Amino acid sequence: MAESVCIVAEYRDGNFRKVSFEIASEGRRIADALGLKLYGIALGSGVSSVAPRLGHYGVDKIFVVDNPALEHYNAEAYAPIIAEIIKKANAGVVLLPASMNGKDLAARLAARLEAGLAQDSTEIAISNGKIRAKRPLFGGKCLGWYEWTEGSLVMISCRPNVMSCLAPDESKQAEVVLADVEVPSPKSQVVGVEMDTSGKVELTEADIIVSGGRGMKAAENFVILEELAKVLGAAVGASRAAVDAGWRPHSDQVGQTGKVVTPNLYIAVGISGAIQHLAGMGSSKYIVAVNKDPDAPIFSKADYGIVEDLFKFIPVFTEEVKKYKSTC
Ligand SMILES: Cc1cc2nc3c(=O)[nH]c(=O)nc-3n(C[C@H](O)[C@H](O)[C@H](O)COP(=O)(O)OP(=O)(O)OC[C@H]3O[C@@H](n4cnc5c(N)ncnc54)[C@H](O)[C@@H]3O)c2cc1C
Repeated sequence: MAESVCIVAEYRDGNFRKVSFEIASEGRRIADALGLKLYGIALGSGVSSVAPRLGHYGVDKIFVVDNPALEHYNAEAYAPIIAEIIKKANAGVVLLPASMNGKDLAARLAARLEAGLAQDSTEIAISNGKIRAKRPLFGGKCLGWYEWTEGSLVMISCRPNVMSCLAPDESKQAEVVLADVEVPSPKSQVVGVEMDTSGKVELTEADIIVSGGRGMKAAENFVILEELAKVLGAAVGASRAAVDAGWRPHSDQVGQTGKVVTPNLYIAVGISGAIQHLAGMGSSKYIVAVNKDPDAPIFSKADYGIVEDLFKFIPVFTEEVKKYKSTC
């Protein structure tokens, strides 16, 4: 009989990534429905100081491994440690972020623990004590529901920005336990990470994204999207065509071979809406498309469509948003 639901938090640069609080909130809901405890697992260098924050989102107990050797995610080191803690916690359900690292870790943990894994899930349902997870398939062309056989370990990685987050309750404290596990010496080490220093909003965590495609015609034209993004407090994304043309860095690419994003608002500008692009942004809450071609496939996915030359529309729209914001 399982004792707990475990969530594996993602820690970077002195804090947890937002998706960690989303999976903690989802974990709380599942633990309550199944009558289990909710445990958190957090690895990193300096992670103990922020670990109690997970308690604000309903985590009962947090197993922490705070070690300088774990400063950067390393599958060889992280997977055995987390697998051991999951076993000790007698978990029946494990939730992880479906981030780049989270998906890598989830696959390794599932293999080690012989768990059934639903990657990049967008919804978790519980009925009669049974868990089901929904995930997009074939680049978002259809959705599949997954169930687990009786008694098997349920492992789910959750798409960022999809599961709703509880309002943090700072009066709630979690018990922090320094996990008694050996930190293995991996054969390969991450010696450094070069971060984007532009101060841009991270695409996968952005609430609003303004993305440009081949219709932008040149790298310098992205300045009009940067301007709109600044006014909206948005991140700027791009289609692969814009990235392949060298107009934007690959870190901005949205889609099947780029990032999967789920903002509240996605504004696609001069993007046709190829299936590989839709795979990355199709589950955004609201989609607005700006395209001069009324037959562009993006319009079939969009909630609002503007059939217009983007170079006419975007500057006017930006000015209107500025005016509107100044009255708020
Ligand atoms: C294996 C594989 C993986 C892929 N992965 C990705 C991925 O991760 N992400 C991705 O985006 N693509 C990906 N692609 C590429 C994808 O198939 C498309 O080629 C790409 O998305 C097209 O980008 P686009 O919409 O910017 O360009 P286009 O398809 O050329 O569309 C440009 C659009 O701009 C409009 N336009 C032009 N001028 C203006 C104007 N002045 N005003 C308004 N509208 C205008 C046009 O009407 C057109 O609809 C992948 C392809 C493959 C085969």
